[in-house]
Amino acid sequence: VSKKKRLNAHLSKNDLKVLKDILMFQKERIINTQMSKKIQFSLQNENKDEVDSANDNILVSTDLRFSNREMLYLKKIQKSLNFIENEEFGMCQECGAEISMQRLKARPTSDMCINCKEESERSEHQNAHGRTSKSLGKEVKLEAGF
Ligand SMILES: [Zn+2]
Repeated sequence: VSKKKRLNAHLSKNDLKVLKDILMFQKERIINTQMSKKIQFSLQNENKDEVDSANDNILVSTDLRFSNREMLYLKKIQKSLNFIENEEFGMCQECGAEISMQRLKARPTSDMCINCKEESERSEHQNAHGRTSKSLGKEVKLEAGF
């Protein structure tokens, strides 16, 4: 009801709706994937003898790692959806700059402007090169999937 300008006024109501739809769609997709995996998992584990179970454990642990990555992305999506509700969405969490619609459309979970993102990636590389580039690789792969 208040006439105060929205914090993220650079995004129109329609922009926000479009981005919210994308986020909701991705969220649903991850949840559906998780559910079908759980169902498969419980089906696979009926009537197993010991040897089969041992083999399965290897497969399952690979599966769960993948799930964890999806769960992380799910958390990011949920955070972005909360941001939409409280008007922080589309604002850089580092410097408060506006994140462009173009960038948000490509990556709706962006919570940093390009400058801050590049800055944080640069310093991550410098601090812990080996570990960080591994986790960045994961992130790139994950996002390419969407
Ligand atoms: Zn920034």
